[in-house]
Amino acid sequence: MKITLTFDNGPDPDTSPQVLEVLRRHGILSTFFVLGSKASTTEGRLLVDRIAADDHWVGNHTWSHRTPLGELDPEASLDELARTHVVLQGLGIEERLFRPFGRAGQIGTHLLNAAVVGWLQAQAYSCVLWNCVPGDWRDPEGWCARGIDEVRTRPWSVVVLHDLPTGAMRHLDAFITQLTALGAEFVQTFPAECVPIDSGRIVLPLSGYVADGQGEIDRT
Ligand SMILES: [Zn+2]
Repeated sequence: MKITLTFDNGPDPDTSPQVLEVLRRHGILSTFFVLGSKASTTEGRLLVDRIAADDHWVGNHTWSHRTPLGELDPEASLDELARTHVVLQGLGIEERLFRPFGRAGQIGTHLLNAAVVGWLQAQAYSCVLWNCVPGDWRDPEGWCARGIDEVRTRPWSVVVLHDLPTGAMRHLDAFITQLTALGAEFVQTFPAECVPIDSGRIVLPLSGYVADGQGEIDRT
């Protein structure tokens, strides 16, 4: 089984360095989907630098993470994307990866709207979804066992974790160690079924992800 680890909602001054240390020890590369509001602070910029220096990818996970973009009007949703994009560009981040805010990991038409899709196309971004949400933020002790049970049910899991100070990441080392013992292969890339927009190209039907009944946006 393949596993892609992702860390959302950071960076966090206490937790992100702990996560980096564990990943380095295991030789695993991942993606950190950061919030623009956190990455733009002096401390946040330094943390993004450290993440990138370790060869992890850094993605755009909206500015405020307050409301799923499909529930915002076009102007507000584009502001969430573009402000974060400017911060990441300023930090020299070259990859253009976006992960929508799902609200407790849910996938649905609240994720995107037509304006967001147009922006992602124009900016040649990839939209990276997920297929495994062990719920580390709501169950800092139990997520690990649940996550292991779940990733064993499919050939390639994109696991959503959070570099937030919940205490959950204390178990990251055990999570990785147990999965390695089960023969897991950790990769940085994403399975095609989790990337409906790839470098600005719509490659999967978007109807399940876009509000306003705008799912029939032309593929390009
Ligand atoms: Zn999030």
